[in-house]
Amino acid sequence: MDDRARYDAYVADLAALPTPVLLRAKDTSRLQGFIAGALRVLTLGGQDRYASEYVTTLGHTIWVPADWDRWPHRARYKVLRHERVHVAQFERLGWVGMVLVYGFLPLPAGLAWGRAVLEWEAYAETLRVEFELDGWAAAADRRLHDGIVRRFTGPDYGWMWPFEGWVRRRIARELDTFSRAAPQP
Ligand SMILES: [Zn+2]
Repeated sequence: MDDRARYDAYVADLAALPTPVLLRAKDTSRLQGFIAGALRVLTLGGQDRYASEYVTTLGHTIWVPADWDRWPHRARYKVLRHERVHVAQFERLGWVGMVLVYGFLPLPAGLAWGRAVLEWEAYAETLRVEFELDGWAAAADRRLHDGIVRRFTGPDYGWMWPFEGWVRRRIARELDTFSRAAPQP
């Protein structure tokens, strides 16, 4: 299946769910603009790409940057697979649960265990979709892993989890499940 067809089919699938999941541009929402500004301030400028580069799921809305339509279809599909995990988390925990676990457990920054666990669940899906579409080399790519580690330990998600080893062990464990399913040379 080509990249565009795969992406279009996935967006259509999301919209056809019992509670439709819809994509909206962040720059059409004042609340999203407010969140972007708040994050810039709270992270002392460390997260200043929330509106321009980041995709964010809140409930059944997947908020995308203004230039989303110019992203390659393959990259967009991969991101949506990650975000769908967050949709399922919202369905499981509800808004109040998500705000508490994602935002405040036990701390909003520095030691955000709840956010780290929820994000890890979604990044495991990121590794799976890499493996599915681009094979072992893509899923095992050190640069991809370093990028994921930075997300956890750096300002992107408010320094959610300082333990690099925790992230790397989970990445290794996930890769292990791929190699057991399809042994690598
Ligand atoms: Zn995520």
